[in-house]
Amino acid sequence: MAQAVAVTVQPESLRHSLDTEKINSVVNGKPIISLDVLIVGGGYGGVYALHRFRKLGFKVKAVEAGSFFGGTWHWNRYPGARVDSESPLYSLSIPEVYQSWTWSVRFPDHREIRRYFRHVDDVLGLSRDTYFDTIVVKARWDGDMWTVETLAGPTFRCKYFVSASGSSYKRYTPKFNNITAYKGLLVHSASFPDALDVRGKRVAVVGNGSTGVQIVQDLAKEDCQVTSFIRTPAITFPLKQRKLTIEEQEDQKNFYDHLFKVAKTTPAGFPYNLPLTQSIWDVSEERREALFEYLWSRGGFVFHLSNFRDLVTDEKANALVYDFWRRKVRERIKDPVKADIVAPQKQAVFFGTKRSALEQDYFEMIDRPNVQLVNLKETPILQFHEKGIETTKGLHEFDIVILATGFDALTGSLLDMGLSDRHGIPLSQIWKEGVLTHLGLMIPGLPNFFMSYSPQAPTSLSNGPPIIEYQIDWIVQAITKMQVEGINAVEGTMKAARQWREDLQAANEKTLLPRTNSWWMGANIPGKVREQLIYIQGLDQYIRECDEALKTWGGFELHKG
Ligand code: NAP
Repeated sequence: MAQAVAVTVQPESLRHSLDTEKINSVVNGKPIISLDVLIVGGGYGGVYALHRFRKLGFKVKAVEAGSFFGGTWHWNRYPGARVDSESPLYSLSIPEVYQSWTWSVRFPDHREIRRYFRHVDDVLGLSRDTYFDTIVVKARWDGDMWTVETLAGPTFRCKYFVSASGSSYKRYTPKFNNITAYKGLLVHSASFPDALDVRGKRVAVVGNGSTGVQIVQDLAKEDCQVTSFIRTPAITFPLKQRKLTIEEQEDQKNFYDHLFKVAKTTPAGFPYNLPLTQSIWDVSEERREALFEYLWSRGGFVFHLSNFRDLVTDEKANALVYDFWRRKVRERIKDPVKADIVAPQKQAVFFGTKRSALEQDYFEMIDRPNVQLVNLKETPILQFHEKGIETTKGLHEFDIVILATGFDALTGSLLDMGLSDRHGIPLSQIWKEGVLTHLGLMIPGLPNFFMSYSPQAPTSLSNGPPIIEYQIDWIVQAITKMQVEGINAVEGTMKAARQWREDLQAANEKTLLPRTNSWWMGANIPGKVREQLIYIQGLDQYIRECDEALKTWGGFELHKG
């Protein structure tokens, strides 16, 4: 299989040097480093955690699989990769970082976000406490400490172990028949080479989630032939991109602290106007259409987040929104066959039950003659072939096949870390029949192991930085409280974890979410337990529950002395 891997070489000076590290001992030729806190991940969560713990004087290090900070933005370099959270809300709330940074556009692309991480490091100097190119492969609790082994780097011994490993680290490649026979370039969206010349090439894009939409929208503008393989059409909102001036951002910086604070009091981590409290049925058709038009014109996730409350609970309300969406989208597509694939008359998926995508000119782009759409519901993929992809309608030949097929999200990276509980039982066994966490922050049987941007928390139903910062702040407070109260180890109880899971699934059952095959439901990975993986009751409610639990240690088992 021709597999392209994005390799980014960082200057040596940015890498952590073992020479400058105080190594406590060497066992079997491997350095052992003793710490208070080890953090896994160098995205928003890892960077924020490292900053917070360091400031409080903890002996702390981070390990990161990539060669620099950025997390998902380090890996995702595919054409059109751009964040769907608007500036400045996709920023850390650390004043010394935001005071000296301005974004160029409302929705920055992957290059600008990587520059932002460089800036964060320039200001905070975090790379000197980070091991890059370092992958955790085994972690066990020995009654007092965690021992964390890495693939090629040192072994760490730490009292507190914090995972900020992200929701979308583990790539998913479907097991297409005969995939290894393909002789062209096969690349997953998250390992896209930095420079790939598509000019004059025949390019396939398999998958039509947020990633597939962004790639097709961008590649359509290139001198290449694009074929987009679509199984479920994406629901999209207009991005309404625009340039941001330095002046307007400098003015707004007077309010940033409040903006970031308010974001954490909202259901989705965006300080947008709150959802309409009325039912969709309480207003006239004219009023409803006017509201839809207004929200549509705002761009970003506003159309969803400030819309009527009953969109994802009432099938008929959902159909009304879909009807509006289909009309808005179809008026931009001339080719009726293409329109039927991306915006079918019959609703293919409940609105808001899968992660929606943001687009700029996607519908105009798919209308171009160099873009072909293949409806996989009508003509499924039979197998790969040395020259391309064979569907029930015949062979499509390609020079490049891009898999925009997503991730083993939320649990994949945690399960790959070789974690086991204090009896040596692997996490995969503990989660065999479903995920068990207390508050999406701790796992029963794993003392002093904490998670952020985790399963059973608002995670991908929230803007990233607010939920991440809240969880890291909670973890920092919990550890500080442990120290003040003389607590050696803390863990969520199994009883609390079962209750957390039960409450989450019960809330989910009241919505249309379980009726859609989404990665939120774990439904994109064959064999994965089908369950809601996200806390859907909102970031604001989540914060209330976690704050309360921390006050009383509700649902936690404490080990003293
Ligand atoms: P995704 O949402 O999981 O989409 C995967 C796509 O691949 C779907 O269209 C899926 O079809 C298709 N697919 C999977 N297996 C297939 C198979 N065997 N045959 C044909 N098609 C198959 O993955 P993603 O688009 O990479 O997005 C993942 C998440 O990353 C997003 O939901 C979002 O949270 C994040 N993301 C964010 C941004 C941003 O902020 N701008 C951009 C990109 C991604 P079905 O739908 O039919 O299963």
